[in-house]
Amino acid sequence: MEILQNVLQPIEKVLIPEKKKKDERVLPPVFNRGVVTIVGIKTVTTRFIPVSHEGFSNETYVDKIDLLGKKRAEFISRKLKGIERRAHMSLFREMVEENNGVWKDEFESKFGKPCTIPAPLCVTCWNCSLFGALEAGKGGTFSRIRYFDTWSLQSADECIASTTSEEGLGIGNTVNENLKEERGSESYHLYEYVKAGTKFPFITIIESPTALDITGYLAAVQRADVHGYGKYSANHGKFQTEFIAVAEGMPEFSILDLLENNTEEEIKNKINTGKYKFESNSVITDNEEIKSIKNKLPELFKEYWNSL
Ligand SMILES: [Zn+2]
Repeated sequence: MEILQNVLQPIEKVLIPEKKKKDERVLPPVFNRGVVTIVGIKTVTTRFIPVSHEGFSNETYVDKIDLLGKKRAEFISRKLKGIERRAHMSLFREMVEENNGVWKDEFESKFGKPCTIPAPLCVTCWNCSLFGALEAGKGGTFSRIRYFDTWSLQSADECIASTTSEEGLGIGNTVNENLKEERGSESYHLYEYVKAGTKFPFITIIESPTALDITGYLAAVQRADVHGYGKYSANHGKFQTEFIAVAEGMPEFSILDLLENNTEEEIKNKINTGKYKFESNSVITDNEEIKSIKNKLPELFKEYWNSL
């Protein structure tokens, strides 16, 4: 991670709350002193049901949009962020328990309360610092992590199972099905889904990043992949994520550039060879190196926890 040293903030500058009055702690104000960009590709490994609207009767339709000459499945940034924030918190609590005692008591003593998503948030912990928080009467902290909407690399015809595709709609049971009665339409629901193998390139930006933020984000994404995104995520919406680059500075390309006339291999090549550039030349594209960044998490977390 030495290559990112220019831009990484020390833990205490960003993550260690200042004691204002007795019992009142606030995170230090963070200005935008630099950015790390993370680019990758998420591949669906189960059925994925990205839905942000009501369907008709007992049918569910996947979000889609016409974009760059194709109809594509849509994966909105709010969903990405929501699931990854929860995964980050579950990882955070787990690490607290590994290092110390019961996470609830530890949060209580370090941050004044157990931090709960979506509310009440504590506004002082690592998760709040990275993902942002608001608390009535106490103020808030801006999110330092930025997500972007993304779309499927493949066209909807190829990647969505629907009434017109070969697979047809998926069928699920409703919760209140009465097994004693004959099956009626109220006992099941039909849904479109994005098929396994569908690719979504993504770009995430972390402002005023600490080394802990980068490692924590990489690990949280991996956990979120297993937890699942989208509707019925207990069973659906699992992913595999490949990180292509961790770079200093903003990207000089957008999701649209990645989607336009590119295959997965072409996206990787264009980033690896510098055709798609970042603000600086400090770019890590080596897979093993990115993995080794993620492996620093336990060590960096200990440093954070001991500094609190
Ligand atoms: Zn918090």
